[in-house]
Amino acid sequence: MTAPGVTSGEVESALAAVVSALPGGGEAREGQRQMATAVAASIAGGRHLVVRAGTGTGKSLAYLLPAVLSGRKVVVATASKALQDQLDAKDLPFLRAHLDHPFIWAVVKGRANYLCRQRIDEVEAGLGQAELQLGGESVQAELEQLLGWADTTVSGDRAELPIEPSPRAWSALSVSGDECPGAARCPRGGDCFAEQARSKAAEADIVVANLALYGVNIGSGDRVLPEHDIVVVDECHQLEDVLSSTLGFEMGAPRFAAFAVRVRAVVADPQLAAAVIEAGAAALATLRPHLGRRLPRPLPTEVIDALVLLRSRVEVIAAALRAIQTSVADADQRRARAQRLATSLTDELDMVLDLPENYVAWVPDGGEPRLAVAPIEVGPVLGAMVWGSRTAVLTSATIPSGMARRVGLAADQFDELDVGSPFDYEHHGLLYCALHLPDPRADGYREALHEDLEALIRAAGGRTLALFTSWRALEAAVAVLRPKLPFPVLAQGDLPVTRLIETFRADSAACLFATTGLFQGIDVPGETLSLVTIDRLPFPRPDDPLLEARRDRVGSAAFGVIDVPRAATLLAQAAGRLIRSASDQGVVAVFDRRLGTARYRWEIIRALPPFARTRHRREAEAFLAEITG
Ligand code: SF4
Repeated sequence: MTAPGVTSGEVESALAAVVSALPGGGEAREGQRQMATAVAASIAGGRHLVVRAGTGTGKSLAYLLPAVLSGRKVVVATASKALQDQLDAKDLPFLRAHLDHPFIWAVVKGRANYLCRQRIDEVEAGLGQAELQLGGESVQAELEQLLGWADTTVSGDRAELPIEPSPRAWSALSVSGDECPGAARCPRGGDCFAEQARSKAAEADIVVANLALYGVNIGSGDRVLPEHDIVVVDECHQLEDVLSSTLGFEMGAPRFAAFAVRVRAVVADPQLAAAVIEAGAAALATLRPHLGRRLPRPLPTEVIDALVLLRSRVEVIAAALRAIQTSVADADQRRARAQRLATSLTDELDMVLDLPENYVAWVPDGGEPRLAVAPIEVGPVLGAMVWGSRTAVLTSATIPSGMARRVGLAADQFDELDVGSPFDYEHHGLLYCALHLPDPRADGYREALHEDLEALIRAAGGRTLALFTSWRALEAAVAVLRPKLPFPVLAQGDLPVTRLIETFRADSAACLFATTGLFQGIDVPGETLSLVTIDRLPFPRPDDPLLEARRDRVGSAAFGVIDVPRAATLLAQAAGRLIRSASDQGVVAVFDRRLGTARYRWEIIRALPPFARTRHRREAEAFLAEITG
């Protein structure tokens, strides 16, 4: 088992040496060792690897170490910013300090995360003041702060800002990838922050990016990432969804308004921008009857007519922009950027008007109508851009069943490995399914759920993360239980999410009631969290337009192929919040009897950590009383 210049024995001994340097002088865990050698073999053999690494495996080191030792160019793509930050601030510096093999790494983000030097020049020259004044004095004050920071920052990366700027202030000094004309055509291309980040990435051995940026890299002509031999996709259970949204787009009133602002700054006739806003509003109005639904193929005549009119108005602006002659470099840049936006709008409108077979267009539910477009399957793009040209390692604590097939990996293209978890789930965790409750769709369910939830929270002494599959269910539970419980009940929506989680962490008796948005990403080790509850199996909405299109492709097997794996993955992610360290203990309670009765239940149970199981509430209460008492 060898990678260029590295044997599996060398990987193992390097891992042992690195792990022994961890705080407390850790020992290499068997799952981590297995994973590290499998990743090394995958890199050496050029064969894709899908590896499930349960919580506590130490999977970041298990892929970073062989990646570094291989001497190949590696991109690590993560789904969450939190993981990206962890790799950059913790795992990679640790590896560099303790691995006897020098390497460099770089983090690359989307262009809009960096200050744009060209925009700064224009704002400082007073260009575009009219558009900025629309934001009032507070935006002006923020701009002054940002301009002061621009004089001192080395990276121009928004994440290093000591303040959180408003979207208006930040967008005044940054540009999106759609808008930037490229370094070669920009006077400040030579010292552009985003370009500097890309140059660093070109020199680095390990490049850390997020999955959305990876999607942009493979889905558009904009090669934001350097050429690479290996890609590691961490949190790969989100690959299909993130790629689907990155390879698609949304069009709504804010997009037309932002385009108009950029156009007004360069085109003398204000009527042209106003005409786009008007045609955009008319086009969106034709979508209103389709709110929450897929658009039919072919598109209804009134939608086609409105989109064609909108396209012609964008085209008029594009022609006006092309006709502008100016010797003022900054003004020419503003023209070039507006032109880029016009091109991307017309390209997207053309795509909607002649929708490719693998794409679906719909009008998302909630709020004013918007037009959304996404590929039904991401496999074809990944097949053409990734699977055939580089080696991929896909890893997560939860691998949805059938994921490899859905992302376009043929069965003979990859190896699979499950390294389990070092945690003793069977003795430290109890899965309680409330079989005595009515079906979640039946009368009396909600009252029975509240009664069970209250009893368990009391037994746990607070210390509960109560998850709900809808806001309505969350609000009902908060309204009933907050006045009754002798513990603080925090609810999603009370505070910004980061502060909410901090407050929850700081008070070991507190309960946090939240929705599916927090099923993933909360990490609260220790006694603050002894009970995780979920009201219902988290199936996706049956009327989700993109999933409907996917179900149509799959036919009668759709429920098993699409819905069950999604519910299983989300439930496993939620249950995974409970045990975050070797000493954590607690109960996962599912108030949905289908977990104990439905024919598909074993697929869902198999995706969960291997807890001991019970259907008796008194056993769950006793377990909680024992561990918290
Ligand atoms: S290349 Fe120019 S316009 Fe593009 S982000 Fe850099 S400075 Fe801004």
